[in-house]
Amino acid sequence: MPKATETVLEIDLSALEHNYQYIRSKIKPSTKFLGVVKAFAYGNDSVRVAQKLEDLGIDYFAVAYAKEGEVLRDAGIKSPILVLHPIPSGFDTIIERCLEPSIYSEHILDAFLEAAKKHSQKDYPIHLKFNTGLNRLGFKKAEVARLIDKLTLRKEVKVVSIFSHLAATEDKNEREFTLGQINTFKEIALEVGERLGYEPKHHILNTSGIINYPEAQFDMVRSGIGLYGYGNEAIIDAELRPIATLKTIISQLHILEANESVGYNRAFKVDSRKVTATLPLGHADGIGRPYGNGNGQVFINGKMAPILGNVCMDMIMVDATGIDCKEGDEVIVFGPQTSAEKMASRANTISYELLTGISQRVKRIFLDS
Ligand SMILES: *Cc1c(COP(=O)(O)O)cnc(C)c1O
Repeated sequence: MPKATETVLEIDLSALEHNYQYIRSKIKPSTKFLGVVKAFAYGNDSVRVAQKLEDLGIDYFAVAYAKEGEVLRDAGIKSPILVLHPIPSGFDTIIERCLEPSIYSEHILDAFLEAAKKHSQKDYPIHLKFNTGLNRLGFKKAEVARLIDKLTLRKEVKVVSIFSHLAATEDKNEREFTLGQINTFKEIALEVGERLGYEPKHHILNTSGIINYPEAQFDMVRSGIGLYGYGNEAIIDAELRPIATLKTIISQLHILEANESVGYNRAFKVDSRKVTATLPLGHADGIGRPYGNGNGQVFINGKMAPILGNVCMDMIMVDATGIDCKEGDEVIVFGPQTSAEKMASRANTISYELLTGISQRVKRIFLDS
């Protein structure tokens, strides 16, 4: 692997392939695989990730918003793309770019029917989202009759799938609640099928669901974080390979004596002689202020170096005392050896937030063997 000469997010597409095959091995051959590539594929570059997954034979993609799907279509992605959280302002884009909306409320249904009519669509594929307990988006079970009655009168759209989202698949203490959600979804699916007169696809599992509730695979599963190498539990993390490594370099070394301080607001006070390294990476790059004052750490030539004082917009200062290093040396922030999940948890957050927060200023480079 080439040594970094600036701050880069190195993305290993062969690790993505490994994770895809691992998750595939956990589902039945007949179950379809939807890759969740919203939020720039969790910070990893949605186009390169989707191209690789399409080459590997993935069945479906999901993004959050229409614009994210448009980017994939512009790059030549041909697979079906589910838009998880469409908003009426994106409906023209959805139809023009053959994206498939999640319909989660009566308001959204009416607005989408209007857009489909305007574009003279017939049997346009839609996905009905049901709320089984997350209380975020979706129709309630009690709304099924009314909803399907309305849909059967309209020729503009066709229901290709119904789905729901589980609230706590990674939390073993919430098993009973999760099984209740799955059961409610089964009841909804039965009623929808009967009233529609045909069977759309059913899906409810995210990455941790695939691991912990294999009996609820139905026709498709939706994996995001697992593809990027994180499984929300140690035994699954051990099977997956983080695809992204955040690297930077040492811009400058300083030797500080007792009573000096480091950074804004003098947040770190030096008690005895220290060597500090300034790195070109700050909160504008996605390393937020909660990582400051020792909560976050980096690795310089294999040695741990805690962040000293407050995170600045474009820089952090770390403790390089006793580490054999020089200006220009490579620094590892997170990656396969030092996981984003561990780093995130020290700042009371989760891998998802750290990964999706790496800003567009950080250059992405790709490895594929
Ligand atoms: C983001 C998202 C997923 C993916 O969840 P992971 O935990 O990353 O696998 C699946 N389904 C829906 C509805 C989502 O919003």
